[in-house]
Formats: sequence, structure tokens, C-alpha cells
Amino acid sequence: MSKVQDESFRDTIGTINKEGNRAWIFPKKPKGPFYDKRKILSYFLLVFLLAAPFIKINGHQFLMFNVMERRFNIFSFPFWPQDFHLFVISMIIGVVGLALFTVAFGRIFCGWFCPQTIFMEMVFRRIEYWIDGDRGAQIRLKKQEWNAEKIRKRVSKWILFFIFSFLIANVFLAYLVSSDRLLLMIKEGPALHSGTLIALLIFTAVFYFIFAWFREQVCIIACPYGRMQGVLLDNKSINVAYDYVRGEKEIGRAKFNKQEDRASTGKGDCIDCKQCVHVCPTGIDIRNGTQLECINCTACIDECDTIMESVGLPKGLIRYASEDEIVKKERFVFTNRMKGYAAVLTILIGVLIGMLFLRNDVEATILRLPGQLFEHKGENISNVYTYKIINKTNKTFENITFKLLEPKGTIQVVGATKVKVKADGIAKGTLFIEINPAYLEGDKIKLKIEVFDGENLIETATTNFMGPRSFN
Ligand code: SF4
Ligand code: SF4
Repeated sequence: MSKVQDESFRDTIGTINKEGNRAWIFPKKPKGPFYDKRKILSYFLLVFLLAAPFIKINGHQFLMFNVMERRFNIFSFPFWPQDFHLFVISMIIGVVGLALFTVAFGRIFCGWFCPQTIFMEMVFRRIEYWIDGDRGAQIRLKKQEWNAEKIRKRVSKWILFFIFSFLIANVFLAYLVSSDRLLLMIKEGPALHSGTLIALLIFTAVFYFIFAWFREQVCIIACPYGRMQGVLLDNKSINVAYDYVRGEKEIGRAKFNKQEDRASTGKGDCIDCKQCVHVCPTGIDIRNGTQLECINCTACIDECDTIMESVGLPKGLIRYASEDEIVKKERFVFTNRMKGYAAVLTILIGVLIGMLFLRNDVEATILRLPGQLFEHKGENISNVYTYKIINKTNKTFENITFKLLEPKGTIQVVGATKVKVKADGIAKGTLFIEINPAYLEGDKIKLKIEVFDGENLIETATTNFMGPRSFN
């Protein structure tokens, strides 16, 4: 089998030239069955990504990541700061799931599901093809002097890129601060929300920078998931791979010659047309083997299949395959490593489901005011408390009352006659508890307090009560 002659790819990346400057990629417009399937999935995911913050189930936004207030909704399950452990478990499940997926199927997520790829390849790149044309036309336009055609094409592309970046920034904000707040701010106008407008323009600028200029560099340089590939992939992982056994054969790849019987020459099936390189959005040559830059977008599979068909050779020279399948003709097996990840994933999902079922929709915390001891009020001893009630449901609690279960005593809420907690809201306040010393069995006793909404018991809280030592 021939050796790969040029190994310079090991020292460089396709998007940086010898001088260390950015080498702009002009990928050929992909075409073929894989690209068609990716288009369908991408449009479905695009609709989902854009609609998810505006979908509500039981009054809860379907997806929300309010980092500032540490409130998250995942598939309409609200996670409060108090549920942070559940959120962390969900994130760990995501990471383990992704690791399992990667060990088995390589970087399939990047090519088919990643929002960066979907927006880049299915929105911005397609606008570019529409305005600038395919690879050849784009290269010509880049080299050409500024004239009316170039100005018209560039300006219309930049305007469209800006509009789409602004749209994405709005949706991003809906994920961050909730769609209700975003729609309210739009209704009230930018004059009342100038800070938010500035944030929105900064997000727009970031998205514009990413999709108009930074592009594949996100996958190659910035994405931490991409960096993990080296440790996750092994010889049994399925990837978009070049079948170098078939492609190189005894004497290596060679140009196609209609006149010869290729099989008898010892030449590989690769006709060195470089179409797989020209179509690659990260500028790599898949024939050099699995590389970190490859986002498994399948564009080279489609391109090579078209070439193979046109020269009468079997398709699949580039295909989804593991190294072991190419070299040893071994079929995909569920390895012990994959089984290990699957077992951890199953346990974590079980723990999360259990915790979600055990989780309360209402949380009440009643804590003694720090630094305060106790007071004598007539015959009674009084302690002062702060209370916090978190309502994770989608209905408002109109009339919250507190009832001391044991020992006998009274609870007096300071201020408001009626304590209300809005849906998805928090109520905080102060209350006094008075107990007759006759019921105190020590200087520090435990209290059980029931919290009602009208007649409905919604939560039971515990707290401490301090009395004088003489009652020991
Ligand atoms: S498209 Fe196929 S035949 Fe052409 S260079 Fe790439 S691997 Fe070889
Ligand atoms: S090598 Fe093929 S699958 Fe990988 S990024 Fe390039 S075109 Fe996509």
C-alpha cells in the first residue's frame, strides 16, 4: 500500500496559510442524498430552536436558561437555584450522553445537530451561495476589483447577515430572560429598555462576527467538544472516513483514465479529483485520516459518491465507517467502553427521574432572624423569623397562611394582610412566633409549621425556637 506522500497537513490547519494569516475557505455547494437529509433535519431543528422559547407547557417556557437569576426550564421543568443539584445532574447526563454518542458514532452531533453548523451551513452559507454563487464564483468575486456588482453583492449579503444575526440575538435573549419579558420589552419599546437594546446589539455583533467571519474557526479552535474528540474516539468509533485500503490499493491514488482497466493496474479507487477537499467546510482533506477539524458533515461522502458514480466505481469510498471496519472488515460492535458509558448514563437518568418525582412544587423556608435572641411579650416568649416561599407551579397562591403544629402558639405575619405568591414567583417576609413558656421544654426547641394556600396544605416547614435558659 502506498504511503501518504505529503504529510504537511500534520503541521498546519487548512484555514491558516504559511504566513499565519487566515486562509478563507470557499467550500463547494454540497449536493446529494446526505445533504438532502441534513437539510430536512436542519430545517426541523431550526424551527425548534427558534420556537422553543415561545412554547409553553403548563405555563412554563419549554426551554429557558436564565443564568442571571439562575433559573432554568428544561422541557418545561422549572429548575430554581434550590434545584441546582438537579440541573447539575441534567448537565452531567448531557455530557455522558454526548460522550457515549461520540465514542460510538464520532462527531455526528456536530454535522447533524449542532446549532453552529445548522445556522452556518443551512442559513448563512445558503444566503452566500444564493448571492455570490458557488465556489468558483465566490473565488472570482473575492479577487475582483470593487465594482457595482461586487458592491451590490457584498452590501446585500451583509444586510441579510445582519438581519438574521439580529433575529438570532432576539431568540437568544428569549432563552436568557424568558420570551414573556422579551415580548413585553418589544411592546414597551426600546426607549424604556435601552440597556437591553445595547445587549441585543452586542449579541447581534457577536453572531454577525461568528457567521460572517469566524465561521469554521468555532469548530476548529473554539469548541471544547471538538477538542475532546482525541480522547473519545478509538478504532471502533464510526466516523466519516476515507477507505484508504480501497482508495490507495498497491500503488496509490491516481487520475482517472478511461482507456485503462484500473483494477489490473494496482491503482487505488481514488481518482485524486480533490472534490472532497473542495466541498469541505473546514478545508481539510479527509484522505489524510480522521482529523479534529472534521465536523462529520457528510458533504465529502456525497461528493465522492457522485464522482464514483460518474467513473463507474462503487460508491462508499468515503463513508460512515470505523478504522477497524476499513482495515479488518469488522462490523460495528457495542464495546465494553460503550457499555460502561451506557450503564453510567442509565444510573444517572434513574437518579434524575427519582429526584424529579420527589421534588416539591412548593418550597417554604422559615429561618430565625440572624443575631436576634428572643423577646418577652406579656406572658409569652417571641422569636422573629424571615420566611421565603417559592412557587414552582403555574398558579398563583392567593392567600398564604401559617399554622404552628406543635407546640401550641401563635404566628403573626408582619405587614400584608394577605400573603400572595405569583406563579413561578417568590414571596419573602417576616413573621413572629409567640409561645407560652409553659410549652417550652428547653431553651431551643424544634417547631413544625404548616403552610396553607386557603384551605390547602401546600408545604410543611421546620425551624428552631429560642427561649431563656431558665426553662431548661
Ligand atoms: S472525491 Fe473521492 S475520488 Fe475524488 S479525491 Fe476525494 S476521495 Fe478521491
Ligand atoms: S472531511 Fe468531510 S465530513 Fe469532515 S468536515 Fe470535511 S466535508 Fe465534512
